[in-house]
Amino acid sequence: MPSPRLRLILGDQLSLNISSLKDIDPEQDLILMCELHSEATYVAHHKKKLVLVLSAMRHFAKTLKEKGYRVCYRRLDDTDRYSDFIREVEHILNASGCRHCVITRPGEYRLLQQFQQWQQTSDAHIELREDDRFLSSTDDFRDWAQGRRQLRMEYFYRNLRKRYGILMHEGKPVGGQWNFDSSNRKAMPADLTPPAPARFEPDSITQDVIDLIQTGFPDHFGELDDFHYAVTRAQALEVLDQFIRERLPLFGDYQDAMRQQDPWLFHSHLSFYINLGLLEPREVIEAAETAYQQEKAPLNAVEGFIRQILGWREYVRGLYWLQMPAYKEGNYLKADRPLPGLYWGQTTAMNCLHQCVEDTRRHAYAHHIQRLMVLGNFALLIGANPAEVNEWYLLVYADAYEWVEMPNVQGMILFADGGLMASKPYAASGAYINRMSDYCQHCRYDVKQKTGAKACPFNYLYWDFLARNREQLEQNPRLGLAYRNLNKMSDDAREAIQESARIFLQQLD
Ligand SMILES: Cc1cc2nc3c(=O)[nH]c(=O)nc-3n(C[C@H](O)[C@H](O)[C@H](O)COP(=O)(O)OP(=O)(O)OC[C@H]3O[C@@H](n4cnc5c(N)ncnc54)[C@H](O)[C@@H]3O)c2cc1C
Ligand code: SF4
Repeated sequence: MPSPRLRLILGDQLSLNISSLKDIDPEQDLILMCELHSEATYVAHHKKKLVLVLSAMRHFAKTLKEKGYRVCYRRLDDTDRYSDFIREVEHILNASGCRHCVITRPGEYRLLQQFQQWQQTSDAHIELREDDRFLSSTDDFRDWAQGRRQLRMEYFYRNLRKRYGILMHEGKPVGGQWNFDSSNRKAMPADLTPPAPARFEPDSITQDVIDLIQTGFPDHFGELDDFHYAVTRAQALEVLDQFIRERLPLFGDYQDAMRQQDPWLFHSHLSFYINLGLLEPREVIEAAETAYQQEKAPLNAVEGFIRQILGWREYVRGLYWLQMPAYKEGNYLKADRPLPGLYWGQTTAMNCLHQCVEDTRRHAYAHHIQRLMVLGNFALLIGANPAEVNEWYLLVYADAYEWVEMPNVQGMILFADGGLMASKPYAASGAYINRMSDYCQHCRYDVKQKTGAKACPFNYLYWDFLARNREQLEQNPRLGLAYRNLNKMSDDAREAIQESARIFLQQLD
């Protein structure tokens, strides 16, 4: 008879078919789940994020027990005296008599290192298994990246489409092209009302966690009122189903649109659940492809959505594991400004920033364009320090885990990796925000003015950013036109930009 094994399930591994549970013997193996103070506080996560993760963990443990598994669940109160996973797991290993511990590889480099060191020192057999919930393994990505100077998502994504036959017909992309982005950049009409997001009233398990976080973590960022997220797989499936029926058809059209006091729009709100393991990326992609086949959603929407999950999500994960630990240290533009207080809710007259921070504070959610073109764009233009920006994004969003947060911050918004991910920095003036949102209509600044006290700060910060980073960016072919325009400006115009930027940044500091 094989000896009993301990199966460790981490907070973002809430999938019944996770590799660490394969071949489990329900009679004698023990599943261990731990709520750890060290994980809840290594950055001061948003209160709603803590509730989401801990409540989903407790519900998952309940499901496992109902299915007849032996589960050891350690709550925050039980684990307080252990400073890290390893000591907690060692303690349970010793107490349970198991000499073999099975773990699916964690999503964060920091934890993987801890586990690998533990493998070297432990008397027990510590078995690390691949996380096969992704469609591309870290080795697949390494093979694809081999010998490439730039790692563009688009080509990686096409490979995966071919490999899995997703939206393919006789070896060619359905619709005759790989990408329908050009149809996907519409501003949202004022009279269009997006469907309300799915809501789930907290049950007693969630309510206990809300009370715990309210009293135990009062200083963490974010509002806790009105927690209504899914915390079980059944609920997450309802969110998926609602998205496919009600939002997917217009997802593509309004993917880049922003609206005052509504971050949800036609987005899926699925990242919380996919990243926790409650939904599998494969089933989400399949649901969207089926909607297209059944003519319930158009191709521009379905392709645009599938590209986010099959393309971007898999790609950032591959890049993270390929580049860590050096990726974290990247600071190509030598940015060193402390992150301004407005990211933590300090008053700002810039309405777009105020709206996006407020959405984030209330919901632990903002959609992609808010994260990229408002909050990220501003951090890029002012030269915010990458370490502080990374920490902010990691703690404020309920879907944030380092493997997905860091490439988006280092590569996509800050160009801190020198262009490994993005062919140029996503820098933009106020005109972009004005075109894609209603924020400017309610702002004290004038988006049409280029310089001076009333001018939209994005306008002069954009040119000041290009001027400041000329040495690193001028040779970038995709910035050729921008630099030609900068060079054509009169000395007076350039000086006015620099003066406006100097005054603004001084006040910001
Ligand atoms: C600076 C910055 C930080 C980000 N940090 C995170 C993060 O910590 N966690 C996270 O899951 N996403 C992150 N994203 C990506 C994206 O903004 C979120 O996945 C998305 O807003 C989640 O909302 P949704 O589920 O409604 O997404 P939708 O717009 O409906 O997109 C569908 C799905 O595609 C995936 N996806 C889309 N874009 C990306 C991307 N760039 N990288 C990875 N997956 C993507 C997500 O799984 C998402 O659920 C970040 C983007 C930026 C610009
Ligand atoms: S005017 Fe400028 S600062 Fe104000 S909302 Fe528009 S883009 Fe933002």
